[in-house]
Amino acid sequence: MRGRRSGGDLMNKLDAQRQKEIQQAEELLFAGPQALGFAKGLFQGHFVSDWVMPYPRIPAAQQTELDDTLTELRKFLDEHLDPAEIDRQADIPREVIDGLGRIGVLGMTAPKEYGGRGFSQMANCKVLEEIGRRCASTSVFVNAHHSIGIRALLLFGTHEQKQKWLPKLVTGEQLGAFALTEKEAGSDAANVQMQARLSEDGSHFILNGEKRYITNAAIAHELTVMARTPVPGSDKTAITAFVVTPDMPGFEILEARMPKMGIRGTATARFALRDVKVPKENILGPMGKGLKVALTVLDFGRTTFGACCTGAAKTCLELAIQHANTRKQFNKTLGEFELVKKKIARIAADAYAMEAMTTVTASFIDRGLEDYMLETAMLKVFTTERLWECINDVFQIYGGSAYFVDLPLERMLRDARINQIGEGANEVLTSFVALVGMRGPGMEFKEIYDTMMKPSRDRISKAWAAGKNRLGATIRVPDVLVQSEQLRGHARQLGRLIRHFNFAVNRALITYREPILDMQLVQERIANAAMDLFASTCVLSRQDSEIQFARRNGDAAAPDHAAADLFFRQSFRRIRGFLAGLTDNDDKAVIAAAKSCLTSGTTETTS
Ligand SMILES: Cc1cc2nc3c(=O)[nH]c(=O)nc-3n(C[C@H](O)[C@H](O)[C@H](O)COP(=O)(O)OP(=O)(O)OC[C@H]3O[C@@H](n4cnc5c(N)ncnc54)[C@H](O)[C@@H]3O)c2cc1C
Repeated sequence: MRGRRSGGDLMNKLDAQRQKEIQQAEELLFAGPQALGFAKGLFQGHFVSDWVMPYPRIPAAQQTELDDTLTELRKFLDEHLDPAEIDRQADIPREVIDGLGRIGVLGMTAPKEYGGRGFSQMANCKVLEEIGRRCASTSVFVNAHHSIGIRALLLFGTHEQKQKWLPKLVTGEQLGAFALTEKEAGSDAANVQMQARLSEDGSHFILNGEKRYITNAAIAHELTVMARTPVPGSDKTAITAFVVTPDMPGFEILEARMPKMGIRGTATARFALRDVKVPKENILGPMGKGLKVALTVLDFGRTTFGACCTGAAKTCLELAIQHANTRKQFNKTLGEFELVKKKIARIAADAYAMEAMTTVTASFIDRGLEDYMLETAMLKVFTTERLWECINDVFQIYGGSAYFVDLPLERMLRDARINQIGEGANEVLTSFVALVGMRGPGMEFKEIYDTMMKPSRDRISKAWAAGKNRLGATIRVPDVLVQSEQLRGHARQLGRLIRHFNFAVNRALITYREPILDMQLVQERIANAAMDLFASTCVLSRQDSEIQFARRNGDAAAPDHAAADLFFRQSFRRIRGFLAGLTDNDDKAVIAAAKSCLTSGTTETTS
């Protein structure tokens, strides 16, 4: 009896916890009208063409400004940036920071009225690609300062707040940081424990708590800090974003530069706030909406992450080509061996796709489209995973020489490892992509199911509409229209794969129903297929635009698209594999083996 009651209590507790999680996610992600973006469209069997076609281009006037900036930046980086020395010294010299500030890199997207360059996110991505090509420490530093550090101020700051802080931040005279992570709030970002209590006279908040792993914290002059504030009229709390400056009494750096494996030039800190008085005027965005502020900021960070990874992948390709063409073994250059060719071809295909995906995603931000959280998450996971493969491949091509510190490869390997963890661990984002994507069709099925259980006139008409929609999407192959004749075959295949994907999502929802919320192995296949569909779409859009551009300019020869063609073949094959894995897999055995290890707590296995 007692056992049964406590089992029931546990179930109730789990239910309550699940309800709380769902409510939190609803509040965070689904407030406001829901436009059908590209990724959400995929999950419904649609190809939302106007988000991705034609391939976005930077307007001519800004392109000229960007080209000039890139020329200046390249010259500066050639002369002053020494990535190996930055890694050895675990520091980015002040002259590098000053130089980046002079060129405008540290305020690239900030409005001109505050001293910024007013660049679009697409143009900014080109700048970050250039830095990411050379030095990951420097690109992460710029990201921490500009993509996320001052982003909340740029997006949610009042005119007064911007006027007060931005002019010095955009020149690099002062630096910014973004402080979300704590011991208890890593992947579980909503679990922020830092407290902010209102002072008795109501003029300021008093902040207490600790943050860890914060890039730039010890060198920053302005930190966007997430802390928990009381919700008026209830005993609940919610997260709010504050501007904190290190001159505030009670701000204490606990460890300025935590020693670490890669991106060693960045300063990653732990800090504490002890009864720090922060004026109410320092709140960024609405009270209690700090999590939404943080996730919106991270949309920008994840986009420039894609740009930095693209730059690094291009470096991998350059290094691979160089070595494969010069190093000889068995009387042949390495490039003559098929297993080396395979690696080079894959790096080229992935680098092309990473650039296309970054450009398309950045254009969503520039066009002010609604809700691109899924696409930025996809970009982050896809580019960081592909880059890891690229580095591994070029490392292998260099053989033993890659292991030594006179070449950049061991540093690149160490530097790249953080990408799959920072700004949202890839597992968390993968699950997020699947769950948010499946929400649309899931709600339609729920409508149908609820009606079957409890029919009513109103419900029947809604369920009929939902049923028609689901069925229509499953039967119809969405139109994927391209201008170039030679791409029609790829476009048709992509359309068919979207229908196949939609069918697989529907089947998974019907088969597993609510437990799918916890089935991460299923979620991973669905998310991976969606990511490859998005990547292939971006490649198609880019290739179409390049072919048309060449035609307009009277180029007789079509541009060389061997890498893009390979990408389609590999991506389409992966998508088919992910979807096949939904019904043919080892999931039960995987779960059983893991459970056995986790419950026994031992490394010994019996035969
Ligand atoms: C060098 C560096 C710089 C950083 N800079 C900043 C910064 O400037 N600002 C800032 O706020 N933070 C920063 N971070 C923190 C970073 O964002 C976190 O490390 C990251 O969010 C993961 O949190 P965690 O380290 O606590 O890992 P945990 O949350 O403990 O997760 C560990 C692992 O568990 C797995 N996991 C966790 N949750 C799930 C799940 N739901 N499903 C499946 N698997 C799961 C994942 O594999 C994950 O990698 C930085 C971190 C590093 C290392």
